Amino acid sequence: MNKVLKLGFVLIFCITFLTPNITWAVSPTLITFPEKIQRGDPVMITVVGLTKISEVKEITFDGIHVPVFLYSPEGKQASNGAGKKVTAFIGVDLRKKPGNYNLKVKLTNGQTLEKVITVLEREKVEEPLGIPEKLGGNTTASQNNLIAVLATENSTLNNLYTGKKAFWTESFHFPLSQIFVTDPYGYSRETGAYTIPHKGTDFRASEGTPVMAMNRGVVRIARTGISYGKTIVVDHGLGLQTFYLHLSKIKVNVGELVLPGQIIGLSGQTGYTDAPHLHLSIRLNGVSIDPMKFMEFFK
Ligand SMILES: [Zn+2]
Repeated sequence: MNKVLKLGFVLIFCITFLTPNITWAVSPTLITFPEKIQRGDPVMITVVGLTKISEVKEITFDGIHVPVFLYSPEGKQASNGAGKKVTAFIGVDLRKKPGNYNLKVKLTNGQTLEKVITVLEREKVEEPLGIPEKLGGNTTASQNNLIAVLATENSTLNNLYTGKKAFWTESFHFPLSQIFVTDPYGYSRETGAYTIPHKGTDFRASEGTPVMAMNRGVVRIARTGISYGKTIVVDHGLGLQTFYLHLSKIKVNVGELVLPGQIIGLSGQTGYTDAPHLHLSIRLNGVSIDPMKFMEFFK
């Protein structure tokens, strides 16, 4: 090895190991997950290189404000030494036009981080779905009635109050101890002249199966609806809410704080359904996203 090269190695060694007081200024970067984003998907944003929420002035996606929180990933990611990360969740609406949208992160130091998010089409699946006899059967009158009932019930479930901070710190868990998807999120159900998008995931659950809160949160809805049946909504704060539909029993009250894994009700077949199952919806700032994709965040 020539002398110059040797001197070089010595210098690198000295800089690397003998100068502990030097901290290298790393400029923050944006990481988004998943890599491919379809209509109806949730997106996880991490601002790497920041440790405090106060360092972020505002995050916007397609011009709309997105709440920011600190999250410490558990398991594999945590064992890599990762601490609290500045995080945000975006919900891409099922009806959002495929194309490119701007994600902007304005920092308090004046810097702006930007990334283009490409929203892809979601495979369209349409299936006929009849109206159960208990709700009037397959007549035009009961179809019109169902649409009117859904509109009323949706208006009760839209714009629910959400806490100003995240109530949760742990990973989210599925609401049933055994998971088997019977109907995925995002396909369209043809009911007479109407097409009703399925904005949630249906899981197999025989009548009376314990349904657990997916994480810590406050109960905002505990009521019986005509089409959604016995319904619970848990608010996890900052616009993140989980919806549990068609239950046979509700075991919580509005305003109650629930803990991760707490049994909040029993599954059933109340409302617009003819077989027992659990319908789960997850909303991010009012946008219903694919629950199975959301759960990918916590693997
Ligand atoms: Zn469903």
